[in-house]
Amino acid sequence: MKTDRTEPGPDAYLSADHAGFRKHVRDLLHGVVSPHADEWESAHRIARDGWLALGESGLLSLEHDGADFLRSAIFLEELGRLGYGGIRASVAVHAYMAVSYLHLFGTQEQQERYLPAARQGQLIAALALTEDTAGSDLRRLSTRATPVDGGGYRLTGEKLYVANGSQADFLITLATTRETQDNGGLAGASLLAVDVNASGVSSTPEPMLGWHSADICRVRFTDVAVPADRLVGRRDKALLHLVRALDFERLVAGLLAVGGVRHCLGLLKDFVREHQVKGAPLGTHQAVRHRIADLESSYDLVRHYGYRAAWLHSQGRLDTHTASVLKLQATELAVTAAQTCLQFHGARGYAADAAAARLYRDAMAGPIAAGASELLRDLVYETA
Ligand SMILES: Cc1cc2nc3c(=O)[nH]c(=O)nc-3n(C[C@H](O)[C@H](O)[C@H](O)COP(=O)(O)OP(=O)(O)OC[C@H]3O[C@@H](n4cnc5c(N)ncnc54)[C@H](O)[C@@H]3O)c2cc1C
Repeated sequence: MKTDRTEPGPDAYLSADHAGFRKHVRDLLHGVVSPHADEWESAHRIARDGWLALGESGLLSLEHDGADFLRSAIFLEELGRLGYGGIRASVAVHAYMAVSYLHLFGTQEQQERYLPAARQGQLIAALALTEDTAGSDLRRLSTRATPVDGGGYRLTGEKLYVANGSQADFLITLATTRETQDNGGLAGASLLAVDVNASGVSSTPEPMLGWHSADICRVRFTDVAVPADRLVGRRDKALLHLVRALDFERLVAGLLAVGGVRHCLGLLKDFVREHQVKGAPLGTHQAVRHRIADLESSYDLVRHYGYRAAWLHSQGRLDTHTASVLKLQATELAVTAAQTCLQFHGARGYAADAAAARLYRDAMAGPIAAGASELLRDLVYETA
């Protein structure tokens, strides 16, 4: 019996209500994002109106935990299925990865200051952790937030590859707060919420191979005055917070990639059904069919694992192993799928403005951003 797997229905983790919710999300995304996606790619950012429309649609207000997180999982998968890596990264960094630090560790005052406006798309969030010498190994960070007499910090340093970097209204960042000269790695680091209109914050676009709409920037902090009440979580204890938040980030990145694979396979299958080689559609050749069958098989496995991971998170039981396996497998599958999609499109897929070329460029960022595959393999090995 053939089932329509492009319209995933209820399964072990999803109810019939979730199917209705999926349709609702898909309709909203097709109304609010799809008509503008190419324009945002060219502009290298989501338009401010787009953020407001996303906020108004309710798509930036979905739950981060509990049973309703499965709705977020559906949203993230559907966002991935739009086929624009930059848009999905930008939205997910804003609505999940950056604000998760406030959800998890923020004070009530911080949550009231930032979250309602972020959910409405009125304030845009970014997450600024990475530095030139501190990517996979955040212990080597050199951004410093020096405590000042009377409370607060003076923040100085430079962060790289910050999505939403030029249009963010606030950033969650990581800096050394330990007062000794030796920065002590993450043992002496803290998380801070920084308003970008503070004097001394500046950003410069850092154009990337793909993820064009993600507004990737270099962000500089030059002697920025950060009030004491912008410390997020416990001072000098960022490591404790990062362990939890980074697992959530990997879950989100994995679910986005699952959706991205589905989009890519859809494009590929439509093409091989139509495109003729040697007087027959490309998809009639066994070499092509078997390659796609392998990708479809891997997609099924990863998608199910993704929902298992989402369900574990909804139960408060997401672990580093599960989050790492999902992010590793989903983003690497997205690369293989995108490479195959481009290959079977031939030269027309390699044209700079081809959808297949965009999917390939975008997919290549997946195994680097939010934790390089090699780091995740280390974590999987250590936790297996
Ligand atoms: C498109 C994009 C968007 C991003 N957005 C953000 C953002 O919004 N905010 C933010 O803070 N950061 C962001 N990043 C940065 C991202 O988190 C880092 O790129 C990532 O953590 C890896 O760090 P790195 O690039 O410095 O690589 P490095 O840590 O220097 O590693 C280089 C390479 O070495 C290999 N490697 C790493 N660890 C190991 C290991 N243990 N064993 C063997 N090989 C290893 C990997 O192949 C890795 O790619 C973004 C990156 C990209 C590409």
